[in-house]
Amino acid sequence: VKGLSKNDYRFFDREMRISNQRAFQIKNDLRIGLDNNQFYLVYQPKVSPGKKDIVTSYEALIRWQHPEFQEVSPGEFIPLAEELGMINEIGDWVLENVCRQLKAWKTNGYDLLPVSINLSSSQFLQADFVDKFWSVLHAYQVDPAWIQIEITESLFIDNEKYVQQILKIMKENGIKIALDDFGTGYSSLAYLQKLDLDILKIDRSLISGISHLSIKRKIATTIVQLGKSMGMKVVAEGVETKEELDILRNHDIDEIQGYYYSKPLAIQEMSEVLKTKKLG
Ligand code: C2E
Ligand code: CA
Ligand code: CA
Ligand code: CA
Repeated sequence: VKGLSKNDYRFFDREMRISNQRAFQIKNDLRIGLDNNQFYLVYQPKVSPGKKDIVTSYEALIRWQHPEFQEVSPGEFIPLAEELGMINEIGDWVLENVCRQLKAWKTNGYDLLPVSINLSSSQFLQADFVDKFWSVLHAYQVDPAWIQIEITESLFIDNEKYVQQILKIMKENGIKIALDDFGTGYSSLAYLQKLDLDILKIDRSLISGISHLSIKRKIATTIVQLGKSMGMKVVAEGVETKEELDILRNHDIDEIQGYYYSKPLAIQEMSEVLKTKKLG
């Protein structure tokens, strides 16, 4: 690259080596992490903006307390787990632990709300995914009405027919399907038409700055109309400020998720939220 000195290259090289080393170690440690209970779940409430800010559902998000790096974010380790082919095991772990938690809440008399679970595309595409999915729900006596799955558009590439079939089965059995991160991929309208999904989640990148960027307001308006016209619920994710919320309140949005209302919560905090359906 023009304009870079030898020192710059040395710097990049060093940075690269450090990040490669870190990735290498993270990949190595995933196995140990799973076997040693270093993973846990947090839960982020979603709020219905019309109904006096009542909590209507929540998303399960995985966390990793790494012995050396402390908190490693899923944004970092999930792609590495996918590379390694370990995402299936991690996905199984997530589903099982969500179901175990639902059962515990139910046993303790909590009035439940639907929880959404992120599914990696490769996890979804495993041949025995559906069987495993049902057997876990069955094992913990979880009513499918309490589970939503979040998938991304990458799932449809090359697998449209198959994915369509599986989603149909899941829907027929009472699982709600959300399309995550909408507005970041290539957002094909053809998929939306064919797939009959339940929920459309507008990606944070389209929400942040929406109060001062008219182009983002226009895109959000269009996406909301699109989702609504197809009978979907629309969720805005990553809402951080009052200004963003005020804009979104003028749209026909069903649920809002973001730091403005709540960060992802530990189990104890989420339990409190389930009691009142309100945020403290
Ligand atoms: P995602 O599914 O789009 O999840 C939303 C992410 O945005 C979460 O990050 C959440 O903590 C964060 N977030 C929520 N509200 C705000 C906000 O107002 N501002 C900002 N800046 N961020 C906000 P997190 O938990 O770090 O997860 C990152 C990604 O990792 C997720 O993005 C998802 O793609 C993946 N992930 C997390 N948990 C799982 C899991 O159990 N399985 C799989 N396959 N992927 C997961
Ligand atoms: Ca998600
Ligand atoms: Ca998302
Ligand atoms: Ca995202």
